[in-house]
Amino acid sequence: MGSQNPVIIWFRHDLRISDHAALSAAAASGFPVIPVYVWDDEGEAEWGAGSAARWWLHYSLRALSLGLERLGAPLVLRRGPVVRCLMQLAEETGARVVSHTRGYDPAARCIEEELHAACAKAGIELKRFAGSALFEPEAIRTRTGEPYRVFTPFWRACQEAGAPRSPLPAPERLIGLKREPRSDALEDWKLTPTTPDWAAGLRAAWQPGEVGGAQQLVQFVDSAMASYASARDRPDMPGTSRLSPYLHFGEVSPRQCWHAAGLAAAVDPAKAKGAQSFLREIGWREFSMHLLFHYPKLATEPFRPEFAAFPWSADKTENARNLTAWQRGTTGYPIVDAGMRELWQTGWMHNRVRMIVASFLCKHLLIPWQEGARWFWDTLVDADIANNQASWQWVAGSGADAAPYFRVFNPILQGSKFDPAGVYVRSYVPEIALLPTRYIHSPWEAPSAVLEAAGVTLGKTYPRPIVDHAAGRARALAAYARLKSIDDVATGNGDNAT
Ligand code: FAD
Repeated sequence: MGSQNPVIIWFRHDLRISDHAALSAAAASGFPVIPVYVWDDEGEAEWGAGSAARWWLHYSLRALSLGLERLGAPLVLRRGPVVRCLMQLAEETGARVVSHTRGYDPAARCIEEELHAACAKAGIELKRFAGSALFEPEAIRTRTGEPYRVFTPFWRACQEAGAPRSPLPAPERLIGLKREPRSDALEDWKLTPTTPDWAAGLRAAWQPGEVGGAQQLVQFVDSAMASYASARDRPDMPGTSRLSPYLHFGEVSPRQCWHAAGLAAAVDPAKAKGAQSFLREIGWREFSMHLLFHYPKLATEPFRPEFAAFPWSADKTENARNLTAWQRGTTGYPIVDAGMRELWQTGWMHNRVRMIVASFLCKHLLIPWQEGARWFWDTLVDADIANNQASWQWVAGSGADAAPYFRVFNPILQGSKFDPAGVYVRSYVPEIALLPTRYIHSPWEAPSAVLEAAGVTLGKTYPRPIVDHAAGRARALAAYARLKSIDDVATGNGDNAT
């Protein structure tokens, strides 16, 4: 390799500068670097970023671009088929090395294979660095060498594998090219939504990019982590880290989470339980990636094949009406509606509420989990093929180590238990905010004088339930009972309350 041959750093879901092994190695080599992001909106087809994730990507790329420019090597933006764009860039710049962080999902792996072949043909060296998992998916195996299908032993094996390496510091400087390669203008990609209100809601809730992610991590570890184990199920308080979009886009790495939590717990033992519980959730992320890597069909097909014959509701008109009510947050169940409106307004939803709304869709409404996953895909800023599909399948009962099929979340009990004073519901469903707490999760039970005093007219200012809870539950159980071959595995992540 000639001494001036630049190195291409291909960014994907690793939109950060610190703890970036490919970037650090290139910086240390002393060669000029060309950081590039390729937007292949046509090639990505089904799993291209949804609307909320595109909004995030826009601001994340802007932040990354500023950071790289400060270090001396501006980000190049190219649009089109990834392999073609990268090979073209190599040809234009004389780069003889392409470096990147590994991806684990089926589409990412497919592109890597194509790139590998194209680089080999062109005599370009391809350097692949470990991806956004704590442990490489091939490294964690059962005693018989199989991938894991159950979370608890999987996470035990991860913990026994030893601590992941310490996060790398950001390079102090990068050497850019004297003549900068051509780059698209980010604005021309039109990633931000055309619905201005929606963009405003997302902007108010988030600061995409590495700096925003680092601040979020520090703030969480300093304050909420100590009580995470008990508060993580409460949507009415800021009990979780809200790191999911940063982790998805790789603005924060799981190694940074692991070490920040561990260090804080070492300094302050009162944080040890919270740290352990938080890392266990990072473990669920890890498990989802592990599953998708070893069972790529998880993205579209039930992990437990018997669920392919599940008798979902066949009434198309009713399904369309119910799906719309669910998406808009007008089901008549306040905790479900609050969750769906939180999603629409902020691009995020609390984990407990994700479980409740997902259970409601798959069980009370008997609508296939894929429909819900698709809506989440378009509206979540953290939409992630591994976490989203694995979690939906977990709720539906068709996933690995899934919730048992007979667990039908009761939206009234769930609301009363995890939003006891109705603070969460009131903030997202203001039209019932004046109801007394006793009725906040079941307005239809309130006497008419109470409804009137709170300014609520059921069916007019707030809907009546679109399905009766007991009837919906019975219908769901009957549908599941028809799957005679179900081998019921009553395990899961401890969310036993119904
Ligand atoms: P914390 O509680 O602070 O957890 C820390 C991190 O651990 C999260 O940021 C996330 O990366 C990971 N994590 C937490 N819970 C889970 C879980 N159950 N499975 C996998 N990883 C987890 N998460 C996504 O990142 N993207 C999705 O598209 C997604 N879709 C979901 C769909 C459904 C139906 C359900 C029930 C869950 C889904 N989750 C998804 C998992 C979880 O709800 C979110 O990761 C979590 O709410 C994010 O908030 P947080 O960052 O404050 O989490």
